[in-house]
Amino acid sequence: MRSAQQVLQEVFGYNQFRQGQAEIVKNVLAGRDSLVLMPTGGGKSLCYQVPALLLDGLTVVVSPLISLMKDQVDSLKRNGVEAAYLNSTLTREQSQQLFSQLNRGQIKLLYISPERLMYGDFMDNFDRWQVCLLAVDEAHCISQWGHDFRPEYAALGQIKQRFAALPVIALTATADQATREDILARLMLHDPFLFKASFDRPNIRYTVQEKYHPWQQLRDYVKTRSDECGIIYCGSRRRVEELAAKLTGEGIHAAAYHARLALEERQRVQEAFQRDELNVVVATVAFGMGIDKPNVRYVIHYDIPRNIEAYYQETGRGGRDGLPSEAVMLYDPADAARLRRMIDETADEQQRRVESHKFNAMVAFGEAQTCRRQVLLNYFGDYQAQPCGNCDVCLDPPQRYDGLEDAQKALSCVYRLNQSYGIGYVIEVLRGSLNQRIVEQGHDKLSTHGIGKNHSHEHWLSVLRQLIHQGLLSQNITRASVLQLTPASRSVLRGEIALDLALPRINVASTKRHKPV
Ligand code: ADP
Ligand code: ZN
Repeated sequence: MRSAQQVLQEVFGYNQFRQGQAEIVKNVLAGRDSLVLMPTGGGKSLCYQVPALLLDGLTVVVSPLISLMKDQVDSLKRNGVEAAYLNSTLTREQSQQLFSQLNRGQIKLLYISPERLMYGDFMDNFDRWQVCLLAVDEAHCISQWGHDFRPEYAALGQIKQRFAALPVIALTATADQATREDILARLMLHDPFLFKASFDRPNIRYTVQEKYHPWQQLRDYVKTRSDECGIIYCGSRRRVEELAAKLTGEGIHAAAYHARLALEERQRVQEAFQRDELNVVVATVAFGMGIDKPNVRYVIHYDIPRNIEAYYQETGRGGRDGLPSEAVMLYDPADAARLRRMIDETADEQQRRVESHKFNAMVAFGEAQTCRRQVLLNYFGDYQAQPCGNCDVCLDPPQRYDGLEDAQKALSCVYRLNQSYGIGYVIEVLRGSLNQRIVEQGHDKLSTHGIGKNHSHEHWLSVLRQLIHQGLLSQNITRASVLQLTPASRSVLRGEIALDLALPRINVASTKRHKPV
C-alpha cells in the first residue's frame, strides 16, 4: 500500500505536509473522528483528500458552496483523482450517470451539498458504496454560534446516529470556543482528535485609523502604494461604486465588485486582479471566496465589518506569499453605533444575541488600547502571551493626557448651544468658525466660540467621540444626533473628577513603511 507521503508527492505534487496535516491524516486513517481548525488557506482539503486515496471505498465530502465544489473536483480530476460532485446543478442524466459510476465503485471522492445528502433515502446507498469516511467542510455552518449558520447542516447530526462506526472529519476556519463545542456536540463526534493550527499571520500588520476624512485617508494611502495591489472592503454597494469611481478618477487602476454586478463583470474583475492588471478592487463581502492571489499587499476596511471572523478572513487575503502586508481598518464609533442598531433590530432573538456578541468583539478590536493581534487571536482562543510588535498599538502606543480642560470646553460649548447641535457644528463653534450659519444664529457671540481654536478639527472629533464613549455626552438618536449632556457631565464641568483622554492619533494615515519581518 502507498504511504501518505507518496500520495502527497505523486498525486498532489507537494514535497512535504504542512503544519498538522500529517498528524491529522494519520488519525483519520486510524479511523478516529477529528475536528480540524485551520485558517483559510491553511490546507484543510488535503487532510481528507489524502486519506480518501488511501482508504478502501468512497469518501463523501459535505460542502455548502456549489461553486467551490466544482473547483475542487476539477482540480482533483486534473491530478488524476476520480472525484465527482452531486448537487442541484446536475441534470437528471448526469446524476444517473454518476450513480452508476458510484455503483461500480469508480469514484473515490464525492462532493455533495448537505441538502442532497440528507434528501430521501440517499444514505441507504452508503453500505453498497462502501463509504469509509465523511468529511464535513465549513463545519461551523452547523452551529448557530458560527457566523454562517445553515439550517441544512443541522440534519448532519443524524449521520453518526445511523453510522456510528463511520469516521467523520469536520473542518472549519472558525475556531472560537462556543462554535467548536457546538460542532462536536451536533455532529456527535466520538472521542475526537482535535487539531488547531495557529491563526497568527505574522506578516500582516494590523492598523486601525480613526475615520476622520475617510476618502482623503483612503486616497492618500492608496496613492503612496500605487505600484501595489490591495482590496478595499465597504459596507454597501453604493459606497463600493462611489469609491471605485473616485479612485479611477485619481488615475488608479481600480474596479468595483459586488453581488449585483453581472457574473461576467465579476469574473472579469477577479481575473484582471489575479493577473495584476488591476491594482485595487473595491468590494463588498461578496469578493473573496476562492481568491488565491499571493501578492495582495494591503486590505482596507473602509467600514467596520460585522464580526471578527469576517474581518479575519478578509484581512487574511493579504500577504498569502508571506511578505509584509497591511490590514487597515478605518474606525468611526458612529458607524459602529449604526450597525449596532441594525443588529438590535434582528427579529430572531437567538440570532440577535449571537450577532451582537460577535459585533461587540469586533468593536473591542477597533477600540483596543492593547496589541491588536492579541485581541484578534485571543478571540480565536489562540492565546498570545506577548504583544506582537507589528500592529499600530505596539508600534505607536496610544498616549494619554489630562483631558479635563478639553472636556470642559467641549461640554460647556454643547451647553451654550442649548444641546441642540450635532458634532460637526459644535466643533465649528469650538474652533471659532465664522461660517454663515454660525454668524446668522449669533453663535459667534457665545463665550465658548473659538475657545478650542488651538486644536484641529480631528482633535476635537476624537475628544467628543471619547466623551460619548465614556457616557459624558450623548447623541440623541431621535433628534438628528444632537449632542446632549448626561448626568455625569456635571462633575466634569465642575472639575470634580480627573479625566484622562487618549491623545488623538491623527497622522496614522502616513504609517511608516514596513520594516522587514
Ligand atoms: P483551506 O481549505 O484550508 O482554505 P486549501 O486546502 O484550499 O486550504 O489549501 C490552500 C492552498 O494550499 C492550496 O492551493 C493547496 O494546494 C495548498 N497546499 C495545501 N497543502 C499543501 C502542502 N502540504 N504543500 C504545498 N501546498 C499545499
Ligand atoms: Zn501588536
